[in-house]
Amino acid sequence: MGGTVLVTGGAGYVGAHGCKALSQAGYLPVVYDNFVHGHEEAVRWGPLERGDTADRARLDEVFERHRPVAVMHFAAFTAVGESVADPGKYYRNNVGGTLALLETMAAHKVRRFVFSSTAATYGLPDQVPITEDQPTRPINPYGHSKQMVEQMLLDFEAAHGISSAMMRYFNAAGASPDGDIGEDHDPETHLIPLALDAVTGRRPALTLFGDDYPTPDGTCVRDYIHVGDLADAHVLALDYLAAGGATRAFNLGTGTGVSVREILESVRRVTGHEVPHVVGPRRAGDPPVLVADPSRARAELGWSPRLSDIDTIVATAWAWHQRRGNG
Ligand code: UDP
Repeated sequence: MGGTVLVTGGAGYVGAHGCKALSQAGYLPVVYDNFVHGHEEAVRWGPLERGDTADRARLDEVFERHRPVAVMHFAAFTAVGESVADPGKYYRNNVGGTLALLETMAAHKVRRFVFSSTAATYGLPDQVPITEDQPTRPINPYGHSKQMVEQMLLDFEAAHGISSAMMRYFNAAGASPDGDIGEDHDPETHLIPLALDAVTGRRPALTLFGDDYPTPDGTCVRDYIHVGDLADAHVLALDYLAAGGATRAFNLGTGTGVSVREILESVRRVTGHEVPHVVGPRRAGDPPVLVADPSRARAELGWSPRLSDIDTIVATAWAWHQRRGNG
């Protein structure tokens, strides 16, 4: 395979890793990004086109110029708390922007779509590990915005023959082992970068959100997946779609749960320092346990995580963190 792939949000954390993996697999990634959260220095593997996903005229121009064989759609707002405070921002960008993108694809007869979805579509799951056929009942506007797009994708497949791989990420984490790309959110809300910042003193002690959950050590359990493994799954999804695969959701996680306290232990092992922390109240909307059953991605995409044991995730994040701190 090969050819040009339009990568929205390609200047962001997961999107930049996607571009790198595409380039290594022989594709040309064309980044389409509005730089609300993206970083120009993360665009290294192909041309850059500035633009907003809601801008039909600009999208038409870019599709005309580059004639992509497929689209990988990473561009989205992703902060759960912000989505509760300002749902319009999330529906406008994540739903409205994706609609404009899909209509552009239909007009230009581009029929392969890889979509960044989320485990947040499941809400409070009935059972863990979570399989893709469990009901999706999101509990915040961010999750709703992604679920709505998944519904649109089924309708666009029926009407326009656009097939989609809906990639339901669990907890994306880690940095490129080469040290060239990593996580740099503003504001940062994610556990591992906040724990590393607490170790270096760049931020105050971490607040551990609740230690009275019904889990073995009382803290929330999540399924952390290395961003490089996520990127690999996206490239494999292109093969799946090229082989005629139908629109389908894929869980991207390891199948192994790790508690917040186990993350802090891993940070101690990797950095040699205890994470300064205080135990605070639970954060609203945090389910006690979210763990993927990733069997479908393994069976149908041939995907298996390579970099996702927790010490590797933390070590790559730590290397990136130190490099960024120095630069
Ligand atoms: N967490 C925490 N303190 C923080 C940030 C996160 O205790 O400052 C916990 C959070 O409650 C959750 C886990 O760490 O159980 C992962 O949170 P994160 O925000 O990284 O990802 P999420 O699971 O919300 O997607």
